[in-house]
Amino acid sequence: MKLIHWFESRLAQTPSPWTVGEVRIYPGYLLTHREDAPEDSRLRNLSGWEAFLDLVRFDAAGRFRPLRGAPGLQKGWRRGPLSIAELFSDLRVLYPGAVALLVAWEGKRLVPTPFPDTARRQTGLYEVTQRLPREDLPALVEQICVRGCLRHPLWHLPASQPDKQERLTLLCPEACHYFLHQARSRAAVKTAA
Ligand code: SF4
Repeated sequence: MKLIHWFESRLAQTPSPWTVGEVRIYPGYLLTHREDAPEDSRLRNLSGWEAFLDLVRFDAAGRFRPLRGAPGLQKGWRRGPLSIAELFSDLRVLYPGAVALLVAWEGKRLVPTPFPDTARRQTGLYEVTQRLPREDLPALVEQICVRGCLRHPLWHLPASQPDKQERLTLLCPEACHYFLHQARSRAAVKTAA
């Protein structure tokens, strides 16, 4: 089954409105920030693709958002009604790979990659992450992933199984480049000390 059809059927089986990360999807499909009410007349209609890309890329202060899973999406907009294809495209931009990861997770086909394996594959700039002390990892995950990202770091076991009650969870099976960048800085400081 195509991802888009799986997603459409997944929504149909789940009580609405549907929350994915910081957005909420209403039947129809209407998309807003999850803290906004769709009937609020002050919301601006975000119909253009370029405007939507800017919303995803920059925060309210105009700063680039290097991590799509990080909280901080601007509020005050509404998009839709959208077709399922348009909704799917929006989610791909907002949270890349989220639907594919959810399909794999629910089909029990998603195998998380432990951090030492990810670090071992690194060369060049990020090779130093191999020297990150193991005991530093939980604090980094807490700071970067738990407090700074809406995705669920499955790779940092055993503390990170998704809440079974939670719907349409954003999953993370492997440390991302943003995390590696932060881990690199930490490992470099340790190495220099
Ligand atoms: S590694 Fe952490 S910061 Fe990066 S996407 Fe996964 S959960 Fe988010």
